Amino acid sequence: MRIAEVVIDRSVRGLDRSWSYAIPQPLEPLAVGTRVEVPLGNGKAQGIVVAVEPASPLPAEVEIKAVIRVLDPYPVLTEEMLDLARWMAERYVCYLPQALKAMVPSAVRRGVRPPVKWRYRATGQRHKRSSLKQTLWEWLHDHPGATRQEIQQTLGDKSGAAIQALLAEGSVVAEEDHASAPLTVTDLPYDLNEDQVRAITAIRERRFNQWLLEGVTGSGKTEVYLAVLDEILQQGGQALVLVPEIALTPQTWERFAQRFPNSVQVWHSGLADRDRAKIWFDIQHDRPAVVIAARSGVFLPFRRLRLVVIDEEQETSYKQDEHPRYHARDVAIRRAQSFGATVILGSATPSAETAWAAREEKIGWLKLPHRVMQRSLPHMNVVDMRQELEGGNRGIFSQALTVAVGSALDKGHQVLLFLNRRGFSTFVLCRACGQAIGCPHCAVTLTYHSDQERLRCHYCDFQIPVPNECPTCHSSKIRHFGAGTERVVAEVERLWPKARIMRADRDSLTTRDSYYTMYRTFLEGKADVLVGTQMIAKGMDFPMVAVVGIVAADMGLHFPDFRSGERTFQLLVQSGGRAGRGSVPGQVVVQTYNPEHYAIQHAVTQDVQAFLQQEFEMRRELQYPPFGSLWLLELSGPAEPTALEMAHEVARQLAWRLEGLEATILGPSAAPLLKIRNHFRYHILVKSTLAQEARVGIQLSQCQGEFPELSVTADPYFML
Ligand code: ADP
Ligand code: ZN
Ligand code: ZN
Repeated sequence: MRIAEVVIDRSVRGLDRSWSYAIPQPLEPLAVGTRVEVPLGNGKAQGIVVAVEPASPLPAEVEIKAVIRVLDPYPVLTEEMLDLARWMAERYVCYLPQALKAMVPSAVRRGVRPPVKWRYRATGQRHKRSSLKQTLWEWLHDHPGATRQEIQQTLGDKSGAAIQALLAEGSVVAEEDHASAPLTVTDLPYDLNEDQVRAITAIRERRFNQWLLEGVTGSGKTEVYLAVLDEILQQGGQALVLVPEIALTPQTWERFAQRFPNSVQVWHSGLADRDRAKIWFDIQHDRPAVVIAARSGVFLPFRRLRLVVIDEEQETSYKQDEHPRYHARDVAIRRAQSFGATVILGSATPSAETAWAAREEKIGWLKLPHRVMQRSLPHMNVVDMRQELEGGNRGIFSQALTVAVGSALDKGHQVLLFLNRRGFSTFVLCRACGQAIGCPHCAVTLTYHSDQERLRCHYCDFQIPVPNECPTCHSSKIRHFGAGTERVVAEVERLWPKARIMRADRDSLTTRDSYYTMYRTFLEGKADVLVGTQMIAKGMDFPMVAVVGIVAADMGLHFPDFRSGERTFQLLVQSGGRAGRGSVPGQVVVQTYNPEHYAIQHAVTQDVQAFLQQEFEMRRELQYPPFGSLWLLELSGPAEPTALEMAHEVARQLAWRLEGLEATILGPSAAPLLKIRNHFRYHILVKSTLAQEARVGIQLSQCQGEFPELSVTADPYFML
């Protein structure tokens, strides 16, 4: 009897391995990747077969329990995906069942099946007296393969019952229709430019399997994706196009659907179960297609993946913030490698990780340096808020922004106002010299904890009492900082009572529909001013926007996260792209207390290379990615002293576990948001060299196994 190695679908310590079960003859041939029900303890459990062995690995006297039944009549995962799950468990320090679970959509797990299209055919002989049934049989005899719809069109609505009767009688058979619509490609209305042609040729010649395609918004990157997709589809391949969740507006995918009317599928969190199941089975049945997907689409069961496009590859929404805490870009690249598929990473402002890989020639580097049709980039105007204060302006809006908004509204143009973050008031800033108080060791801003009136470093726990005067310029104009979208809205209402205002942040936009409604309303000119967080900075095309105001650039700049400079730079460059998209010339006003900061300086000149140069230096010096590996460990508990004690215990254990490895332990320290839902949270940060990433990862995984309250995030993006 053959033996199935089964991973049980429960993410607890102790079950995190495979268990051996005998395969009863009637269940053979049982394939790897099939979901099964097995006995476990005194009960039953579900699991996935990860291997099949010819004989038991255990001594003969050990009795092996048998698989009870198979849950689906086919394997849900391929060998390639099982392999990916093992890699994820290691890379992201999670349990194997967690990784496996992420790969099978819940609709498929619950047995939802896609609607099937049936085709009908008459069989054998049938000579009965004339009736609807006999007419139908004869018609089907002449029209084999007709669909239900075709039958009804010819023979009327009553034919439904007649088909059922004929099926029951056995003189008609129904067959599932698996054929996909033929590939059609619509023509391009213009010629591709030289840069686009160069990029497409390089990708087709496959000098590299992975490419960074760097080009500002509107430089024609999507046309490059479409051209490469065209070739892949002609060859019958499958392609995955990942886009940030928020960019999954119809506007984005319509471009793809227009070019390939029969071949584009869209995968996102708002889909109904049946639609999900349909796409999932289509891909599993090897149909050639382009799937445009948000993060989770990276786990679709591809069989012939030939191309992966990751648009806006720098977007942090590709990182999942619950277990398994994967990064869709890394998973996609890993999958593409298994298939030998090409990867295109598209961005105007590439992540430091990707940009570094391109500089080191680990991946190819293609550039689209110009906007198509010579459209110009808008003018960026940086306002020094320290001078505003000196001049007696204590409001949220500078003189320059007030004038710009006022004149835009007079002309009937639209205005976008961004806050870099939602209103956190978590750091202390000197309004006279613009310095935020930072950690002397970690290149992050200290976090303000109001309960103790202290500033603490969230990485290494360096701390000081909140000073009364600025350590740099000795001014007393030092205070904690924050403005929420509501406050900005109130100010706009006060200054321009007639303006029609809309607010867009995570509180006001909770669903895809509300997001889309907001988008349409503003696009159709039914509002004059849109106030929002960075979520409105991306991918949106509003031709009537004349002014973009970044109300408080410092808020993102001083987030306690080593990527805060990078994110601010990206946001500023992206918002620049939001102004002047149509015939209305655009201008951007950036308000900051820190105009000297390199992220702001280089954003104003739109100088991606200069920014990255400085970013690389900082990261190399402090061994942050891509020059080192990083993990965030979190301990939380309902009582503050126990959570902290536990954190110290974990840190002590880590100290001996990591001894002799090139790794540093920082903390424990209070999380910037110390208390969430009545739980106190403490963080430990672990850094290592790239060379020792795997060995450190194994130690962390074992440590996580010993402390149920500990959760580990590899390559963290959300450090609050
Ligand atoms: P990106 O993806 O870099 O933002 P797109 O591919 O969306 O850029 O191109 C921006 C706009 O320019 C689109 O409306 C597109 O149809 C148009 N476009 C792209 N390439 C060309 C070209 N070679 N000639 C004229 N228009 C183009
Ligand atoms: Zn100062
Ligand atoms: Zn520090």
